[in-house]
Amino acid sequence: MDHAHPLGASQLFIDGQRRPAADGRTYPLYNPARPGELVGHAARAGAADVEAAFDAAQRAFPAWRDLSCAERAEYLQRIAVHLTSDEADFEARIRLFTREHGKVLKESRIEMGRLGGRFVQVASYAQRLDTQDVMKGPPFDTVVGHQPRGVALLVVPWNWPLSILGAKLPQALLAGNTVVIKLPENSSMAPAMTVARIAEALPPGVVNLITGSSSEIGDAMLTHPAVRMINFTGSIPVGRHVMKMAAEQLVPVTLELGGNDAALVLEDAVLDQAAFQRMYLGAFMTSGQICMALKRLYVHRSRYDEVVDGLSAMAAAQVVGDGLLPETTMGPVNNRRQLKVVTDMLAQARAAGAEVRECGTVPDEALYRAGFFQKPALVLDPAPHLDIVREEQFGPALPIIPIDGEAQGMAMANDTRFGLCSSVWTRDMARAWRLARQFDAGYTYINTHGPLGQDDRGPFGGFKQSGVGRNLGFEGVLSFRGYHTITGPQGSLA
Ligand code: NAP
Ligand code: MG
Repeated sequence: MDHAHPLGASQLFIDGQRRPAADGRTYPLYNPARPGELVGHAARAGAADVEAAFDAAQRAFPAWRDLSCAERAEYLQRIAVHLTSDEADFEARIRLFTREHGKVLKESRIEMGRLGGRFVQVASYAQRLDTQDVMKGPPFDTVVGHQPRGVALLVVPWNWPLSILGAKLPQALLAGNTVVIKLPENSSMAPAMTVARIAEALPPGVVNLITGSSSEIGDAMLTHPAVRMINFTGSIPVGRHVMKMAAEQLVPVTLELGGNDAALVLEDAVLDQAAFQRMYLGAFMTSGQICMALKRLYVHRSRYDEVVDGLSAMAAAQVVGDGLLPETTMGPVNNRRQLKVVTDMLAQARAAGAEVRECGTVPDEALYRAGFFQKPALVLDPAPHLDIVREEQFGPALPIIPIDGEAQGMAMANDTRFGLCSSVWTRDMARAWRLARQFDAGYTYINTHGPLGQDDRGPFGGFKQSGVGRNLGFEGVLSFRGYHTITGPQGSLA
């Protein structure tokens, strides 16, 4: 296969310009399906670049703030078009993303498309954002409005960096903030090139992009005096660190952290091929590296064998390999560390006596052994204390646990420090809506699970350690605004 690629290096974008790091440093990115294969280089930002990015964002803020919401919405609409208008560049970015990330081409395409779609959806909130609450006296005339916060720092993880950026960037912009974006060190080239396309469609300084290592520049960004809001998506330990750092400048945070989503499959669930397809993708899309993936499957004992058989058949049909090849349906895990998290959990479950079913075909055994691969794995009836049940696997492995009734299942589903998403599977819609309200989770799906079933009009985020605040929906836009109340004498307001 031809691995030659027209896109070999990505740059920073600061103050209206693509630029290398001030000191010229870069870092290499390798293909997780072929770890010896260099994909290209990204700019490694240093302290001077961080300063330049925040300086540009601060200078751009007043003019951007002073546009009307409708004017900013027009920019969002134009960006959505600009993201895909150069077809050759769009296709090249999709292929590059698969090579540096590992996810199959189809998913790279979904992710790139979803980003533009989110700009369009957020633009539709312009009029609603422009409204304020007017209360005439007695005793006073008072108006409650809200205004942009200023410079926002947006941090995204490696699993779905662009889709997740779509849950915070258009919202921050419509709300009137300027931003500095920190992309993850893993798989940052195609995302950086995509962010550059967004930034070049805006006035200089409105969107500024940093790539590099958080161990070098992370804290300098989190504690920068220009930051007025931090919106972070990533792991719980780093989220905790972000919140502590934000306390330095008393900056508000939105944190979207890990999940360990439970699904309850009840005795009356409709379990046809389409249902198994949704269930399978809910757990295994992007090799399971999705925050809102199904991570614990609780099934009524009377349907247990049927679910295990149905999902085993789905998993068996997977072709595991290089995401660039058209026959591949599941790519590698993104990095060695994440692969070890998953394989350690499987080893622990096996050692404790649980059956682990690894399914799927591997057309190229040598590639499979060399790359960061793990076949889709079903873990049957593991004990509740095992890591595969209690912790977030963030990889292609799903524990399936029998339950004897809805109350027991709900108690097990909620017995966790996580609270991101959840789902209930039943043919009885009244029962579904009743049980959905009992989950300690920020989002509940009925008869589906994960990104393919998600409605972007609703706010998204978690309870408990899954996070603080919400992205998406109108609430996600409002989170980038601060309330401003103005009071005058009774009768003074025209
Ligand atoms: P991570 O290690 O927490 O990193 C997330 C991002 O934070 C990366 O861009 C990282 O940059 C950056 N970062 C790390 N330390 C920083 C610091 N001191 N200052 C500023 N930025 C810093 O998470 P990950 O491994 O990339 O992602 C996997 C986790 O994200 C999983 O737990 C998953 O559940 C969670 N996630 C949650 C959601 C959600 O919406 N709830 C969505 C997707 C993923 P570097 O790459 O340079 O370290
Ligand atoms: Mg788990």
